[in-house]
Amino acid sequence: MELADSMYSYRYEFPAAKVIDRCKNCGNDIYEHQKYWDVFGTIICEECIDDFSVED
Ligand SMILES: [Zn+2]
Repeated sequence: MELADSMYSYRYEFPAAKVIDRCKNCGNDIYEHQKYWDVFGTIICEECIDDFSVED
């Protein structure tokens, strides 16, 4: 099982990804591969969109 170590050392990020905008709610950078919302010019990231939606 020696291969397992190298698998877990892989970092979940995209070094070449471009920052295309910034979430107006949490301030996190939004990369071009990420899903985000543009609500009348207000940029909201995927993690924050739940705060802006109403569910019963
Ligand atoms: Zn956010």
